[in-house]
Amino acid sequence: MKELQNTSTISLLFHEVLADGEKSGFQNNDNLPYIHNIQQFNEAVSLANEQAFMRQLIEEIDFTIQQEQLLFTFDDGGISALQSAQLLENKGFKGHYFITTHCLNQPFFMTDKDLHTLAEQGHSIGSHSHTHPMIFRSLSYNKMLQEWQTSRKILEDTLGKPILTCSIPGGDADEKTYDSAIESGFKFIFNSEPTSKVYKKEGALIIGRFSVKNTTPLVTIEQMLTYENHAQLQRNRKIKNTIKKLIFPLHSLMQNRKNIQ
Ligand SMILES: [Zn+2]
Repeated sequence: MKELQNTSTISLLFHEVLADGEKSGFQNNDNLPYIHNIQQFNEAVSLANEQAFMRQLIEEIDFTIQQEQLLFTFDDGGISALQSAQLLENKGFKGHYFITTHCLNQPFFMTDKDLHTLAEQGHSIGSHSHTHPMIFRSLSYNKMLQEWQTSRKILEDTLGKPILTCSIPGGDADEKTYDSAIESGFKFIFNSEPTSKVYKKEGALIIGRFSVKNTTPLVTIEQMLTYENHAQLQRNRKIKNTIKKLIFPLHSLMQNRKNIQ
């Protein structure tokens, strides 16, 4: 992987944005920290709106030009996407929505029609795998290919256009995760590494993201946007990854229980 020079892309990772009492996306306790209420989300968008970032979609960015980009990304494909998209639009932003295609047209998730609506509004639609396996990098290479290709085909058949973006379920990736996504035709692969650096691998770009939970203070989001806490967030993630590796059998057992059978 080679780092792209002269470019900085701050991608914020959200999931659901809900009014009180609404439901969207995966209905389990793991997702509770990723449910923002409308006011919280609006505050984050307003903060972003004050910064002098470019606001293109990842597919539109000319990476040969020196610039700073800000991207809003949303994982899972929950029905609340239509709400977050509207809130973004109010401030002149577009979103990147990554869809778990197995859940498309299921309760709490978007329908084919919703995808069309988002695409027509100018938001970007990408894959978040087909069944959202919890530890994606523990899959065999063939299973990874199957996850990406099934998902990409469903999205392309639904929208009638090439789908070039994806995000990795759970955010953890290894080389074969990237290789399988690249072999499946994706050109822009989002992980959950807290970095503004963009890496190139065999004609595809690997983009990090800053995960925003509902407990993330506004000041922390501000520091993400001003590069002040990136080194700290990277250190925290490293520690978390080391712990996950140490307890891998236990971690993997617990996560696998959550997979769609
Ligand atoms: Zn996810």
